[in-house]
Parts: sequence; structure tokens; C-alpha cells
Amino acid sequence: MSGTPRSPRAEARPSGAAGSFQALIEQIYLERDSARGVPGTLLWFVEEVGELVRAIRRGERANLEEEFGDVYAWLATLASLHGLDLEAVGRRKYAAGCPRCRATPCGCPHPPQPA
Ligand SMILES: [Mg+2]
Ligand SMILES: [Zn+2]
Repeated sequence: MSGTPRSPRAEARPSGAAGSFQALIEQIYLERDSARGVPGTLLWFVEEVGELVRAIRRGERANLEEEFGDVYAWLATLASLHGLDLEAVGRRKYAAGCPRCRATPCGCPHPPQPA
């Protein structure tokens, strides 16, 4: 055992389904991301969200593709560090349509807040 402190929530076991984007990111980075732990990884994620916000405001296609890819990758990593399959949790929540009104497309009377 090493003496390196690690987040108790960090999870080194792959969580993404075979062939998924999350599984690809795990193959490339999971060992390194697990060693870094959740708090440090969250800082990277938030940094990339900021870059995506700037890219959206700029509206330049190549920059948008770059930053959507980065945020997607860091979101996948955070799911892996919590032992979650990102695709599965997203599909579970929205499989029956809008979680509030259960309709597809959403029939809520007002623009809903993020659930
Ligand atoms: Mg970026
Ligand atoms: Zn709805």
C-alpha cells in the first residue's frame, strides 16, 4: 500500500459500458484520474466548463467541437470516479420522457428548471 492520500469516493474500477465513450476515456485516463481523485478532477471539469462557455459565446465551430469534447470527457471521468455508467444513468432518468410530466416531447406548462 502506498501512503498517497486518495479521495474515499475515487473508484478505479471501469464503469462505462464496453464500446462507450466513457470506456474509451477510462482506457486512456482512469488510472491517472483515480490517483488524482475527485476534488482535483472537479477543478479540471469546472475549468473546461468555463472554456465551453467561452466557446459558445465565441461561436466558432472548431473551438465548439474542442470544448464539447473536453467537457464530455471530464464528465465521463467524474462518473467513472463515482462508479457510475454515464449513459445508463442518463437513460434511466429520461427513458420515460420528461421526468416531471413524463411526456415526450416535454409538455410542462413553463420552461422547467434543471431537475
Ligand atoms: Mg478545453
Ligand atoms: Zn415536462
